Amino acid sequence: TNSQSVTVIGLGPMGQAMAAAFLDRGHAVTLWNRTPSRADDLVARGAVLAPSVDAALSANEVVFLSLTDYTAMYALLEPAADALRGRVLVNLSSDTPERARAAAGWAADHGAVHLTGGITVPPSGIGKPESSTFYSGPRAAFDAHRPLLEVVTGRVDHRGEDPGLAALFYQLGMVMFWTSMLSYWQAIALAQANGLTAADILPHATETANSLPGFFAFYADRIDAGHHVGDVDRLAMGAASVDHVLHTIADAGVDTTLPAAVTALFQRGMDAGRDGDSFSSLVELMRKSS
Ligand code: NDP
Repeated sequence: TNSQSVTVIGLGPMGQAMAAAFLDRGHAVTLWNRTPSRADDLVARGAVLAPSVDAALSANEVVFLSLTDYTAMYALLEPAADALRGRVLVNLSSDTPERARAAAGWAADHGAVHLTGGITVPPSGIGKPESSTFYSGPRAAFDAHRPLLEVVTGRVDHRGEDPGLAALFYQLGMVMFWTSMLSYWQAIALAQANGLTAADILPHATETANSLPGFFAFYADRIDAGHHVGDVDRLAMGAASVDHVLHTIADAGVDTTLPAAVTALFQRGMDAGRDGDSFSSLVELMRKSS
């Protein structure tokens, strides 16, 4: 077996995949989960199910947490806080940057080190060399335990000492993931209302999504330079276009929540007198809440 043993607390789909990845690499693994039966397959493979959270924390210096959110972490670890001294908590539960910062302070108060993690792949990506995770918090702890972190995902990206940064980078991805996927559901609902299936529009949806990185790159430099000149697109053109989207969807009897929110943002830009500027000027509008 590999020399360094680890504890994994939280055995949802992600935690189970992490524990399995450690076993695959020959690490001894101690487990704890609120619902003990979720450990059965891993115990059959040689992992040890600790009798208590206390025992799970005491078993190893490095403790991986994979819980629904930070509230679940406090619910579990607060009653066992005396066992936190000297532990390195690698927290792969997702939550907000502010909660990650608070948790780092809370861990320090109990003599533990908190490394915030943000995993960018689903359970099937755990243990894969191409998968990656954002980390932030003490660089020394990250460096010391890097080989363990690389078992979870082959690529690891330390963003900085601020414990909120990994959570921020995770959330930046989620901001795009959830709205992008909803835009895909929206297109499917519109297609279905017109007698088409998801499979029918898949090639076109894929081509549309694949065109986006070109737009990201084109606008990034301009936005950083505060350059919103309407030389290739004008907000007024965009406002007319999103209005066609809204009406196409409404005419089909499909839910308009999402396109109505989009047209409202374009309208605010028009009201602010940005009609001749690029629709990238909406970034400036979004930066301040209405
Ligand atoms: P789940 O929500 O399915 O599992 C979370 C674990 O948290 C379970 O072990 C559950 O215990 C435990 N838990 C939740 N609430 C409590 C509580 N109050 N007290 C004690 N234990 C609690 O999550 P996943 O495994 O899917 O994901 C784990 C984390 O990874 C989440 O933060 C998620 O956002 C993030 N993530 C998930 C991805 C995915 O594709 N699934 C991708 C990237 C990140 P029990 O088994 O007893 O219910």
